Amino acid sequence: MTGMERQAPLAGKVVIVTGAAGAIGRAISSRLAADGARVALADLHAGPVGDVANGIREAGHVAWATTVDVTHDDGPAGLVEETVAHFGRLDAMIANAGILSISPILEMPVAEWDRIFSVNTRGVFLCFQAAARHLVAQGEGGRLIATASIAAKMGSPFQAHYQSSKAALLGLVRSAAWEFGAHGITVNAFCPGNVDTPMWSMIDRDRGALLGKAPGELFREVASRSPLGRTQVPDDIPPLVSFLVSDGSRAITGQAINVDNGVVMY
Ligand code: NAD
Repeated sequence: MTGMERQAPLAGKVVIVTGAAGAIGRAISSRLAADGARVALADLHAGPVGDVANGIREAGHVAWATTVDVTHDDGPAGLVEETVAHFGRLDAMIANAGILSISPILEMPVAEWDRIFSVNTRGVFLCFQAAARHLVAQGEGGRLIATASIAAKMGSPFQAHYQSSKAALLGLVRSAAWEFGAHGITVNAFCPGNVDTPMWSMIDRDRGALLGKAPGELFREVASRSPLGRTQVPDDIPPLVSFLVSDGSRAITGQAINVDNGVVMY
């Protein structure tokens, strides 16, 4: 290495990404690996998450894939244990797995409310708890990061369960920041906006239908309702996540940072 070259910003770090086979998880995983992290990728099914890891390895970076169900009491703890067995340490947990459905309150089965919370809120709690137990014992600080959403900060029709699950997540982030700060562990969430993904195609179809909109109309409307007036894509998200994993973010904790084209400004 010549004196002019800079070390990869995440060199030496081991990072878990849940929901790594999804649109945003894939983009985050690829970027963290390209920035020098060794990434442990976890998702429900081995095939898709294995494909993401293969793609990262083909690009010359370090990735390993496994399966997890973040709703199982022991799932995240097993994931942390397996990751440490594989890579020898842990530096950051990106609790990114999340699900959404469209359901008007008057018709929402309580089981549907619980299903959304079991992944988006309870699942992140389990991931944070499992990672924090290891990070505290390891004694070198670390990063707990959750994928929230601008949904945590605003209402939307037919998504009361999703909005509530993401809002509750911010309570977890703020409290965990207090509990783990003394260990040099920061805890943050990032809040994507309306990202062009299969999840948003589903919102466009199902919420759009309930609102009497033509296919594509709702997405175009929300995309145009921002200062930047551009469509958000998965690759908009990873640069912020990479920064939050890096040592440079050491003074940032308990935050919910929007990465949303400026749709929400608080
Ligand atoms: P996605 O559906 O493409 O990916 C989510 C991934 O999570 C999937 O691969 C799925 O298999 C996995 N998953 C679901 N349940 C799981 C479980 N119990 N255990 C382990 N993995 C599980 O969605 P995405 O658009 O990539 O969303 C990723 C995150 O970003 C979610 O938390 C979502 O709420 C959030 N988000 C998305 C948008 C958007 O516009 N797409 C906007 C804001 C926030």
